[in-house]
Amino acid sequence: MAKSVVIVGGGTAGWMTASYLKAAFGERLSVTLVESKNVPTIGVGEASFSTIRHFFSYLGLQETDWMPDCHATYKLAIRYDNWRAEGHHFYHPFERPRVVEGVSLADWWLHKRPSEDYDRDCSVIAALCDAKRSPRRLGGALLAPELGAQDPVSMSRSTMDEQKTQFPYAYQFDATLLAKLLTGYGTDRGVRHVLDDVVDIAVDERGHISHVRTKESGDLAGDLFIDCTGFRGMLLNKALGVPFISYQDTLPNDSAVALRVPMEMADQGMGPYTRASAQAAGWIWTIPLHGRVGTGYVYASDYCTPEEAERTLRAYWGPAADDLTANHIKMRIGRSENSWVNNCVAIGLSSGFVEPLESTGIFFIQNAIEQLVKHFPGGPNDEQLRKSYNRQVANVMDGVREFLVLHYVAAKRNDNDYWRDAKTRRMPDALGARIEQWQAKLPDPDTIFPYYHGFEPYSYTAMILGLGGLDVRPLPGLAMMDDVAAEKELRLVRDQAKSLVETLPSHWDYIAHLNDRAGA
Ligand code: FAD
Repeated sequence: MAKSVVIVGGGTAGWMTASYLKAAFGERLSVTLVESKNVPTIGVGEASFSTIRHFFSYLGLQETDWMPDCHATYKLAIRYDNWRAEGHHFYHPFERPRVVEGVSLADWWLHKRPSEDYDRDCSVIAALCDAKRSPRRLGGALLAPELGAQDPVSMSRSTMDEQKTQFPYAYQFDATLLAKLLTGYGTDRGVRHVLDDVVDIAVDERGHISHVRTKESGDLAGDLFIDCTGFRGMLLNKALGVPFISYQDTLPNDSAVALRVPMEMADQGMGPYTRASAQAAGWIWTIPLHGRVGTGYVYASDYCTPEEAERTLRAYWGPAADDLTANHIKMRIGRSENSWVNNCVAIGLSSGFVEPLESTGIFFIQNAIEQLVKHFPGGPNDEQLRKSYNRQVANVMDGVREFLVLHYVAAKRNDNDYWRDAKTRRMPDALGARIEQWQAKLPDPDTIFPYYHGFEPYSYTAMILGLGGLDVRPLPGLAMMDDVAAEKELRLVRDQAKSLVETLPSHWDYIAHLNDRAGA
């Protein structure tokens, strides 16, 4: 049985892992986390998935326990600006379309085409985003009944695969502050925290790590080593030589430049969404936090220089960005061939990463730690457990890659080489055939990437119908069916959206209220 774990790295990945392992195993597992005082964390990574709530529930943290400390806000959707045409926007909401007479409302919409806006016609959340509304009332109640989502009855621990209905929101937060909060959580529960540089990694003749050597704190030995050293992949890729499989042939964005823009949002309001605004060689993210905005330009260095990217980002923000220091980041896109080899598991950027278009970095971390607990070693079947873990983690990343490639192939935007090349570049193997299938029938569980990767068919549908570049055809059978019920449901969506916009507080008011209550 592995009784002691050494985690190298104290970014979001390191501290999420340390806290989670303590929440899972308590004193039965000794956890040491060593992080450098000199090597900074990546300093970005602020938007998450709706399943992140299972992470906090597992740790026993309520929103009031952590949101104010991490300057957190709600995220109901990703808003895509200018991906179809200049001035156009649509949402990818955390909301499944309803089903009418056994057929998805998305199919009915395609058949009836009440407008050009699938999101506005079929989702309540799109209206809440346009009106900058909170998903909770000031007393804390969730907007849920209209969407079929509910708060858990108890705060019992749960994991992502238990999310049966779509929860309507995720969070946006300052990841550096989250790592700080989790440092307190972890050390309070017995994580040994070493602030030092790892200068050497000792590998024995079996290819197992026996200890890591630090500059000032001696050698740290353990049964299992977790590589959370970010893009460096110090333990898994460098010391153990595990190959890295690049995705760059299919996803060319390999660079980013980021800014933290202080912003008072009381007057203008706060959108409850992450914005991805298409640019000449990539896209700019905008993530509203309490007190500032996180923003950055993700671009392909084959099409844009770092100087051009920084100029574009600064121009996007105007005077608000004057005097702010830009953080240039080179991104390693792809995944380690195996994220767990012998007694070393890589979690976070060291395991794999795709551009943050769908906010999947922290989701990959959460998935990895949930799976690590489920596959924790200590018996005769460790080799099988490792294999199963590696398969699951690789599938998640490969699946997300397909979903992201679809964003570029299906985007109607076609106005320069960057956007034109996206339509002809090599695709992951099966995606071309899947897209042909989706043009005849919108994505369903049998036609998307076949393994769990965090995205359901409804997300593919929202992107295809929002991006507008694929010729998708309605189901012929619907023309022979009575559409009264579909009409009624479309009206109901509109009425519910209107009533929620009128009765829910603004996102800003809710977040300000939450912070006031916490005395932050
Ligand atoms: P890092 O933050 O790089 O941490 C590495 C750690 O290793 C540091 O503590 C460092 O001190 C330590 N270390 C390194 N070398 C040594 C050494 N020799 N000795 C001791 N310690 C060492 N994810 C999302 O979910 N949503 C987003 O919106 C999002 N946006 C992103 C935007 C960009 C441009 C990028 C690049 C990433 C984004 N991500 C996002 C991903 C997210 O930032 C990462 O998944 C997350 O921060 C985890 O990083 P990490 O902990 O693996 O690595």
